[in-house]
Parts: sequence; C-alpha cells; structure tokens
Amino acid sequence: MTTTTKYIFVTGGVTSSLGKGIIAASLAKLLQAQGYRTTIQKLDPYINVDPGTMNPYEHGECYVTDDGAETDLDLGHYERFLNVPTSQSNNVTTGRIYQSVIDKERRGEFLGKTVQVIPHITDEIKSRVQLLGKSGDYDIVITEIGGTVGDIESLPYIEAVRQLKWDLGEHNAIVIHLTLVPYLSAAGELKTKPTQHSVKTLMESGVMADILVCRTEHELPMELRRKLALFCNVREEAVIQSIDASTIYDVPNLMLEQGLDKVVLKKLDLQSDAPDLTQWNQFLKRLKNPKSEVTIGLIGKYVELQDSYKSILESFIHAGAENEVKVNVQPIHSEYLTVDNAAKELAHLDGVLVAPGFGERGVDGKIEAVKFVRENNIPFLGICLGMQMAVIEYARNVLGLKNANSTEMNPHTSDPVIDLMESQKEVTEKGGTMRLGAWACHLEKGSIAHDVYQTTEIFERHRHRYEFNNAYKKQIEDAGMKATGLNPDTGLVEIVEIPSHNWFVGVQYHPEYKSTVANPHPLFVAFVKAAVKFKKAKTVSV
Ligand code: GLN
Repeated sequence: MTTTTKYIFVTGGVTSSLGKGIIAASLAKLLQAQGYRTTIQKLDPYINVDPGTMNPYEHGECYVTDDGAETDLDLGHYERFLNVPTSQSNNVTTGRIYQSVIDKERRGEFLGKTVQVIPHITDEIKSRVQLLGKSGDYDIVITEIGGTVGDIESLPYIEAVRQLKWDLGEHNAIVIHLTLVPYLSAAGELKTKPTQHSVKTLMESGVMADILVCRTEHELPMELRRKLALFCNVREEAVIQSIDASTIYDVPNLMLEQGLDKVVLKKLDLQSDAPDLTQWNQFLKRLKNPKSEVTIGLIGKYVELQDSYKSILESFIHAGAENEVKVNVQPIHSEYLTVDNAAKELAHLDGVLVAPGFGERGVDGKIEAVKFVRENNIPFLGICLGMQMAVIEYARNVLGLKNANSTEMNPHTSDPVIDLMESQKEVTEKGGTMRLGAWACHLEKGSIAHDVYQTTEIFERHRHRYEFNNAYKKQIEDAGMKATGLNPDTGLVEIVEIPSHNWFVGVQYHPEYKSTVANPHPLFVAFVKAAVKFKKAKTVSV
C-alpha cells in the first residue's frame, strides 16, 4: 500500500492524566515548524457519542469546533498550539464508531454477515483515522488514543493501530507510548517497572512502541534510559524524557531539546530541519517577563476543577502575554457569592469574568457579581450564560423588572428576558442539538466590539439553547444597555455592552475557543488591557 500521509499514534500507559494531549500538540508544533502540514486527532474510548452530554465533573470542558462538533478539551490544545482549526473528524468516540456501524448494519450494508468488533468496529476506527490523511490536507496525522493501555475499552483501538501499522508499512506509521517513571522518595529512586509492564501490555496486543516518552518529576539518568531501551525494545535515542514544566507552552522546546522531532522524522523517513519557533519563543518571552500584573475574578460553579474552564484560562495566558502582564485568575465559586459578601469577594479585583454554564445552581451568585461590577465600574466580560446573567441583572435592577429571568431557570417567569430560541422549541433530544459552531455576527460601528475586532463581520463559536429575548430589546437599550452585535440572518443578540461603564461586554458566543498562541483572542486582549487601565486608575486615585 502506498501512502503520502504519515501516521503517528500516541498511546498512554501506567496512569491517566499524563498529558498525552500536550505531548501530541508539542510534537505537532515541532513538525509544523519544519513545514510539515500536521493535524491531531483524538480517539476517545467511551460510549457517549460525544462529550456534549457529560458534565465538567466527568470530562472537564467541552470544546466546540467551527463546524459545531462538541469535542474533547484536548482539541483546544491542538488549536492553541497549531493555530489550525479542528473539526468533527478530529474527535471520534466509541459511541460514534458503534453508531455508524449499527446504522450501516440497519441499512443492509453488511447483509448476510455477522457484524463483529473485528473487523467491523476496527475497520470503522481505521477509516476514521485515515479520513484526515486522505483529505490531502496533511503530511502527518497524529492520533492520540484516549485512556490507558490495558483498559478493556481501549482494545479495539489498539488492535486498529496494530492493523494500520501493518497495512501502512514501515516508515509510514509509528507508535509513541507515553508512560510514567515515578520517583519513590522513600527509596530515593526513579522506577522503570511500571513502564516495562505497560510496554509489555502493549506488546500483548501486538503493538511495539517505537518511541517512549517518559513523564517524570526528576531528570532521567543515562543508565536508566539504557535500561528502559533494553527492556522495552526501543533505541536509546528513542527514550525521551518529559519532565514537569512550569507552563505547557514550554513543552515543545523541552521536546526539541530531547530530540523527539528528530527521532520521529527519522522513523518516518522524513527529512528533519531546525524548526522555526521564532513566533512561539517571542510569545514565551512575553509570557515570562510580565511588566505588571492584574487579578481577574472567574465566577463559575466548577471553579474547583482546573479543566472546566480550560479554554478561558488559556485565553487569559495568551492575552496576558500579548499585554505583557501576568493575569492572576482568581476562581470564585458562584454558589457562595451573596449580596452580603459580594464586596468582600470582588472589590479588590481588576476585572471579572462570569463564566458559561447550564442550570440553576450558582446563578444568583453570578447575578450578584454582575450587579457589583456594574455598579463599581469594574471591567466585565460575560460569556454565554455570563452574558445572559448580565441581561437579567440589568432588567431586574435598572429596568425594575423584579421577576426578570431566563426560562431556563424559571419557565413561568413573567419577564423572560432570556428565552428558549425558536429553533429549540421542537428539540427533544439532548445530544448535539444546541445552537453549535460558528455563526456570523454583525458589529455596530462605534461599539467596544467593533473597536476590539476592527471589522464589522465576525464568526464566533456557540453552544447554547437560550437567547436574548428581542421583545425586551427596545426597553433594555433605552435604559442604557446596548445590543452591539447581531446575527445578520435572525437578529439574535450576540453582544451586549453598557457604554456608560468602564468596560462592560457580554457575549452569547465563546471567544475562548478561538484564542491561540499565534492569535490571542482580541476580546480577551482588550479585556485584560481594560483591567490594566482600571488597576492603574485605582492606584493613582489612592
Ligand atoms: N445555559 C445557557 C443556554 O443554553 C448558556 C449556555 C452556555 O453558557 N454555554 O443558553
């Protein structure tokens, strides 16, 4: 079989949470920086068709692509590192694989045959892996396999990798196995046994790792690398150390130092050059040498979980570097925010972001936060539910509509300033049925948004069922909150602003999904800038 696209599979061993996504994204960055058109795909071995139906406690943030796929948060890392949009094809779950095989069976495509895990499920996995390669858009496709080697649910994926390696032939497909080399402080030693076992488990499925990337908290000594090479059938140069980094954005350089890109390209029989990381390193320099700092409150109900607001946190890192300031994000739990403690919790902040979300829990705290920042001129960015809370707060406290609410929280409210979208009224199924993906938005000249984006037409990604109720638009605008961004086809309000306030912007879409290292999101950049200005003004007036 001949192929022009090369495939790299990334598997994980010993434990989850080793950062396969970051390693995959870092390698992709190094390959992209040498001129290879590279993309990354994530295969997730769970039965949900996509992560859209899981809550952040289960799965962290749900990342949304331009084409409206609800996907794994690792796709966010891929986009942030590569600055290339991903799509539905970049995330495939067991649920989706089975769904399409069962649909084919019902259509009679396997008529007369018994449908089995091997070959039907594995064939479907193989075709999903090759879909991106066959598009002709990529020289290299990196496929990250979720879960840990040895898990029952990963088996069909590992079998598909075995078959693909065989089908595609030497130099066309390789496997990178990411493992943990733990440090036992009682013994004062790094231990290789878990890695040996996980490589053996992989071999039981007929897959040989070509490269080992070893996560470690301490430097791996040479003799330990030799030992790993010997026991795990890899060359010494293919034992790569991945030591803890202070920022994920250091990992491409750490992998470069370790020669990961060189070994990979050699194994794929491709030429290797020095990657051009000029722009990346300029970003790192700005990130690591801030001239000042600001503190921004992140009001949400999942703030105790690092992964729930991943893209928002990363957007602040990009925007901070762009402004050469350190952004300290202070998580504030919306459930515990009340009229009595709002001043204590929020008065010191230089900016406040009210996070997206679903359901009633914590919304009162979000509304209190908006009230406090609106009355105290603190820069505010509301995203999706955060924007909706800003509208409710304004309706209640400025227009005097005491019962103003979203019909998501109270279906019988007398003033539904936020209401279910018309297109959602017939929807009964939960999965993949929200207003998803990129939609156009027309910006009003003279608005903050227009100034921020420097254009009148933008496309941003969405994930919601409720919207600003246009029946209240005139009343709300007359009172001082303006709708400055509208969907040109439906008139749906995408952005609200309060021109008399320092910097108050609510957006129905999710800007955080589009912020990358190469392209920090202009809205986050402007918000951080407003926070810097606000902090300076405070210091001067003290
Ligand atoms: N729950 C709100 C809606 O569905 C907001 C969604 C969100 O914040 N992503 O409209």
